[in-house]
Amino acid sequence: MKKRAVMLVALLLAGQGYWAVAQKAKTASDLQIAQKVEALLKKMTLDEKIGQMNQVNGNGAATGPIKANPNDIELLKKGLIGSMLNVNGSANAYQLQKIAVEQTRLRIPLIIGFDVIHGYKTIFPVPLGDAASFDLASIENGARVAATEASVAGVNWTFAPMVDIARDARWGRIMEGAGEDPYYGSLVAAARVRGFQGKSLAEKHSIAACAKHFAAYGAAEAGRDYNLVDISNRTLFEVYLRPFKASVDAGVATFMNSFNDLGGVPATANTLLVKETLKRDWKFDGFVVSDWDSIGEMVVHGSAVDKKDAANQAIANQCDMDMCTNAYVSHLKELVNEGKVSVAQIDDAVRRILTLKYKLGLFDNPFKNCDTELEAKLTMQPAFLDAARDAARKSFVLLKNDKGILPIDARYKSIALVGPLADSKKDMIGTWIGMGDAKDAVTMLTGLKEQLPAGATITYAKGCDVLGDDTSGFVEAIAAAKAADVVVMAIGEAGNMSGEGLSRADITIPGKQVELLNELVKLGKPVVAVVFSGRPLALSNISDKASAILQAWFPGTMAGPALADVIYGKYSPSGKLPATFPRAVGQCPIYYNHKNTGRPTGDPNFQYWSHYIDLPNTPLYPFGFGLSYASFEYSPVKVNKSTLSMKEPIVVSVEVKNSGKVAAEEVVQLYVRDLKGSVTRPVRELKGISKIMLQPGESREVKFTLRSSDLAFYTRDMSFKAEPGDFKVFVGTDSNTNNEASFTLVP
Ligand code: BGC
Repeated sequence: MKKRAVMLVALLLAGQGYWAVAQKAKTASDLQIAQKVEALLKKMTLDEKIGQMNQVNGNGAATGPIKANPNDIELLKKGLIGSMLNVNGSANAYQLQKIAVEQTRLRIPLIIGFDVIHGYKTIFPVPLGDAASFDLASIENGARVAATEASVAGVNWTFAPMVDIARDARWGRIMEGAGEDPYYGSLVAAARVRGFQGKSLAEKHSIAACAKHFAAYGAAEAGRDYNLVDISNRTLFEVYLRPFKASVDAGVATFMNSFNDLGGVPATANTLLVKETLKRDWKFDGFVVSDWDSIGEMVVHGSAVDKKDAANQAIANQCDMDMCTNAYVSHLKELVNEGKVSVAQIDDAVRRILTLKYKLGLFDNPFKNCDTELEAKLTMQPAFLDAARDAARKSFVLLKNDKGILPIDARYKSIALVGPLADSKKDMIGTWIGMGDAKDAVTMLTGLKEQLPAGATITYAKGCDVLGDDTSGFVEAIAAAKAADVVVMAIGEAGNMSGEGLSRADITIPGKQVELLNELVKLGKPVVAVVFSGRPLALSNISDKASAILQAWFPGTMAGPALADVIYGKYSPSGKLPATFPRAVGQCPIYYNHKNTGRPTGDPNFQYWSHYIDLPNTPLYPFGFGLSYASFEYSPVKVNKSTLSMKEPIVVSVEVKNSGKVAAEEVVQLYVRDLKGSVTRPVRELKGISKIMLQPGESREVKFTLRSSDLAFYTRDMSFKAEPGDFKVFVGTDSNTNNEASFTLVP
């Protein structure tokens, strides 16, 4: 349709009373969808409309206390369910869709949602690990693979990406996001949305994405899951909301409320969030789903008297779909009859839900991808496994490598592989594994054996469990180590020690593992620690003992081959930390972009400055940190002009040289410090990344364009703008770099 015709349809729509939708519609097909939605809305009874706003649990895994309701099929037939979650496999999806489109009065298809977090069948590294790659193309591709596998299993909608900023490693769900930085978190959020949704939602393998949890869930007090959040609006907007805004800009189809109380009002009813910011100011035209029973939990929070009151508060905040409370389906009609909720409020929610169903093509083909043959054929293809292996090796972060112990090469003829995580399939894939199966995972032992260099030998001994006090396996492990040239210990948390409801108050390596590592170190052999975890662990008790430390997160299905690639040196580690690694739990929350305070430094013998008396302020490993088998030399930072105007950008550049002996990738990072503002400014803020591959001896100039808009923040009056003044810019290998230059922003 040509522009003029689009205008015409828009005018016609306006005449028919749905100007609001038409105004938001961007393309001819959007306008056609808007027209269809209005026509359908007219046919719907109030009950059927409310039914679209009701989401119930299907037959798969549940994450909350509510169990699947046996009466749901009856409700579905009456048109009282708009969406189901946790429906696994195309055969099941087919059955339910068939009821929706053949046995309901208006034949409206269901939208089937599932938590596809880091893969559906082919499991990729946990999201925090995946983010450590700083490789946006790889991150986007991981989401695309997950969408492809999920789509052929009948899934239309994933509850991902989780874009919550997390500054506290105690919080178990730090594993599910991209770490602590709002700028990088925004890039990752957009990459994941693009990966899930593809170029268009109508594409065969596109699934709708969901930015969650709105908002500030990651700031849970004391790192305890579901705990309250009480932060300033400035921090909320500047730090926690930025990846959400980036998700909207990337076209994310849906949002999910968060469980937490935010400044006294549970997020699901907090009108600053959805009503005023997301829908009014950001003009988000998708729909918002509550979190699992987050409407009902308002009663427990103590901010609603009963579920009816909770439903009233949630709809007032424009929460469009109720996940698993049954509050909308039980009380909205009553609220409308009492005049507390208007039909226009209901229509707005239903319009958004139906629009997405049309955009996904579900009205044309409700069984889109419900094809068991296709499901079997497309799942876990070799190309997907290769992508998972590549994503895994890019996620590893080399934290220490004394005397170039790694990679393990011809210097070592015999390897002892020790530790409870060396041969554990289930721990390799972590939690939130979709329909992933631990049986498909390749362990480190298998991976290292498969790629074992000619003439070398490997002996394995478990030594101890992840948890518990049993040391009876030490003898065998020590004997294996004694007979070897190098010891590799697979150490860390179990795969199910991070994730939802899995916060920890002690974030050190649990059980007897450190004790075993100490015994191995006493033998005088080089000990390489490969650390598995879904959070930054406090590694102080191994950092000075192990000769090398490789942070491996939970690498996914292809853990073993990816680890072998890196440990034997086929691929040089290139991951960088997306979250600060503290020295001890007492430093949490800890993050690189903190404020300076009025007393940032002082004489160690002087009491009155901002410090701990028992630990340095600095982390063990800073944000952005990660070593390589190569070494990189940075030239001094150059800025093309010393002044930056509001309209004219400046170009910041460095020359990076691979002065090592192997080809390797490096993540070049640009940070800025605003020296003085109308409100205090962070000591550093990431504003640019560039991941480059350099051959030995090769140099490359890396340029970043810095605009005044990159320097914007919420000023004293909460307007979002850059303020003129002096800045420092840093470019280097991590957030501690001292490679700096200066510039001034002029009005
Ligand atoms: C989690 C969400 C998830 C939902 C559905 C909740 O407990 O907080 O992230 O999407 O369950 O499984």
